[in-house]
Amino acid sequence: MGPDRREFSVRYDVCIIGAGAEGLACAATLAAHGRRVVVVERLPEPGGRCVTRAFAPGFSASPFADELPAIPPAIFRDLELARHGAILTPAAESSGTIAATREAVIARVLADAAKPRPFLPLWRSRPVPWPGEDLATRGGIECGGEGLGDPDRGALALLAGPAGGMPRGGLGALGNALRRAAEEAGAELLCGVEATDIRRRHGRAVAVRLSDGREIAAAAVVSTLDLKRTFLTLFAWNDLPKPLVERIAAFRAAPGTARLLLALEAPPVVKDPDMLRRPIALAASYGEAVRAWAGGMIPDRPPAVVRVVSAVDPFLAPDGAAVMTVTLSAIPREPFDGPWNGDKRIVLQARALKLVEEMFPGTFERITTAALIIPPDIERELGCTEGDLYGGALSPSQMLAFRPFPDCTGTRTPVKGLYLAGASSALGPLATCASGVAAATAVMADLRRGA
Ligand SMILES: Cc1cc2nc3c(=O)[nH]c(=O)nc-3n(C[C@H](O)[C@H](O)[C@H](O)COP(=O)(O)OP(=O)(O)OC[C@H]3O[C@@H](n4cnc5c(N)ncnc54)[C@H](O)[C@@H]3O)c2cc1C
Repeated sequence: MGPDRREFSVRYDVCIIGAGAEGLACAATLAAHGRRVVVVERLPEPGGRCVTRAFAPGFSASPFADELPAIPPAIFRDLELARHGAILTPAAESSGTIAATREAVIARVLADAAKPRPFLPLWRSRPVPWPGEDLATRGGIECGGEGLGDPDRGALALLAGPAGGMPRGGLGALGNALRRAAEEAGAELLCGVEATDIRRRHGRAVAVRLSDGREIAAAAVVSTLDLKRTFLTLFAWNDLPKPLVERIAAFRAAPGTARLLLALEAPPVVKDPDMLRRPIALAASYGEAVRAWAGGMIPDRPPAVVRVVSAVDPFLAPDGAAVMTVTLSAIPREPFDGPWNGDKRIVLQARALKLVEEMFPGTFERITTAALIIPPDIERELGCTEGDLYGGALSPSQMLAFRPFPDCTGTRTPVKGLYLAGASSALGPLATCASGVAAATAVMADLRRGA
């Protein structure tokens, strides 16, 4: 019998789902080690959240974030991101203890990923004592963190990756550099087509089905989608063991994010111009805002971070003008009284602008265009469940070794041949590109020993 016409004629070593920073870092690493790799991306272009777009004539910004957690220097170097055009402004340093702890945790997870391990079904695996846990606790205590008891603001959140500096040209420049790294290494990118199913044979992930009806056979599959997208949408509902489905269904999302992009005739007037080059967190009661979010309400004063991104990167605005972004936290995916509509968008935008005006009086009059991005937009564009950019709440039961499986690396899953990278995997919160490299490392170790 001839080959199925709907199947690709080649069998790949690895099929990666999602061409964001993690998928591209994973692809570049695998291809550089001689593996035959294809990356499937549903958007027409690779990059994921690493994009920069014009939102008004002459004004550009990255719609989903201005910065990502820092890329570990060794990975930045190995992927040759500087040669591929990624120029980052220096990032704010976190305290020595936290930075050292984070580096130790990343090194440990990467080393563990390189050790082949059996795929254990979830109900047979036991939580593995993981050095990250006590490192995280110690790091949090030494830096005066609120401890592990406070789910969203504890030591774990402090340990989570600090901003890595703004790339010149916005996050799109970083996305382009990663794309070049992957393509130059020999990875194939298949854009504009969605992965719809992961097919299993004898319990092992063996192929990825695409929205155009084709199928990619691969020895291993890496998903960079969040936990719920990966397991609850890419498998038939009854295809996975019940304990696994229950574990995943119980995984909680982080509060949603919204972004307001403002084109300004001129930058805000401040005494110290250096102030415009730094992110400014506007005072808000985080606990109150999270309580409002949990009740499906738009917080009166959402926690907000304001950046005049064009003060750091003048290419984003015409001469003399400015781009300001406002990143708002604790924004519900769906308000308690029904889906988002024009009125609710106006309410959120007005609350954000009130905060900005308190900080920078006179800004309101300088606005020529405002673009608001809310959690459903993020969910629709990037495919993040509930519009959660963080891949899950940063709570003790969902972080480090438990993000999401009781495994040292968080990249091997209970489905043989399926690996997880991205924000929901163990390294997702700690650094950018590290979870992609960890997945690549684990895949290579397992393929070498024929697992
Ligand atoms: C504590 C913490 C702090 C963080 N800080 C930030 C931050 O400041 N800013 C920020 O943006 N992120 C932040 N993150 C998230 C982190 O940056 C991510 O781990 C990672 O950088 C995102 O890259 P990615 O490639 O996994 O995902 P993405 O960039 O979202 O890329 C995923 C890609 O998959 C594609 N896709 C989705 N569904 C399918 C499908 N079915 N088939 C094919 N393709 C599909 C999407 O189109 C997209 O291109 C943070 C995370 C944590 C936990």
